[in-house]
Amino acid sequence: MRNLVTGGAGFIGSHLCRALLDKGEEVICLDNLSSGQIRNVQVLEAYARFSFIESDITDHIQIEVDRIYNLACPASPPFYQSDPIKTTKTSVLGSLNLLELAATSGARILQASTSEIYGDPLEHPQSETYWGNVNPIGIRSCYDEGKRVAETLFFDYMRQEQVEIKVVRIFNTYGPNMRPDDGRVISNFITQALTNQPLTVHGSGQQTRSFCYVDDLVKGLISVMNSAADLTGPFNLGNPNEFKIIELVELIRELIGEGIQVTFRPLPQDDPKQRRPDINLAFNTLGWQPVVALEDGLPQTIAYFKERIASV
Ligand code: NAD
Ligand code: UDP
Repeated sequence: MRNLVTGGAGFIGSHLCRALLDKGEEVICLDNLSSGQIRNVQVLEAYARFSFIESDITDHIQIEVDRIYNLACPASPPFYQSDPIKTTKTSVLGSLNLLELAATSGARILQASTSEIYGDPLEHPQSETYWGNVNPIGIRSCYDEGKRVAETLFFDYMRQEQVEIKVVRIFNTYGPNMRPDDGRVISNFITQALTNQPLTVHGSGQQTRSFCYVDDLVKGLISVMNSAADLTGPFNLGNPNEFKIIELVELIRELIGEGIQVTFRPLPQDDPKQRRPDINLAFNTLGWQPVVALEDGLPQTIAYFKERIASV
């Protein structure tokens, strides 16, 4: 298999590239390095079947591949909000470009969509049949609505152009290869704790998220890509164990140090109050479910950040 992984220099993309290479497949990673890290790519250059193209998915792409995993898009609120117009372009124009490539080359294409398409959900847990509660004009909209349009494009290319599509909705995922300045809650809390800074809790910390370890998520991505042609999704992929942000603080204290301080910050606009995936569809059709508990994934993530901080 010849795979194009867009966003392969990013956190999840780099793990996906490695997993595909370890299966003996060929990987072409395309990334503009806007929120990714060149170090994530450099370690993959040890594989002869790996190549890297520094490029942008909003630019025309001509390449012969069997499969396309589209992960290119900044995923952390500080990154996707730093240039919101570019974020929407990445999801909309980037998806259009890649779908055209799939239509002309016959490649199968998977879209990394997101639980953000459910917005601040009124249904809990969220199943794939829920249409969501999304603010179309807020500061998160460039990401949420961009990803929603991308899903629309995927299904229209399937119906109109007979493109073989797969759509996965990823819930909060964490693990090694995240940037220390990524800005998401787990990377923030770990880097703050390791550098003796107070943990920045937004709001009262009563909002919930469900955290999936990256190895579980990558198995889900590959399983969806390899599924029968009629299994388009959307598939929720995430860990259904739900935690309050304030409970995450306690876990970090247990793992890094009881003396860790906390500082409370205002809750950002449109911050979802709760989020937990219903993963019955992925489990019943693919047999996929996460196996790494937060208590087991966090130590591996902490070890990675320790090494990153020590090497600066
Ligand atoms: P990340 O920011 O680490 O990776 C995204 C990668 O895409 C980066 O390497 C970045 O440089 C690249 N990129 C951004 N815009 C691009 C463009 N226009 N052209 C080419 N490359 C571009 O984020 P991540 O956490 O690894 O997320 C990967 C994908 O999974 C994203 O599409 C994200 O929306 C989706 N996702 C992630 C999560 C999560 O919790 N990590 C949750 C839901 C969805
Ligand atoms: N959050 C927090 N402190 C931080 C970063 C994030 O309390 O330093 C909160 C954030 O407001 C949200 C939750 O943690 O309620 C998850 O945030 P993240 O950015 O990781 O993911 P998302 O909001 O996109 O699910």
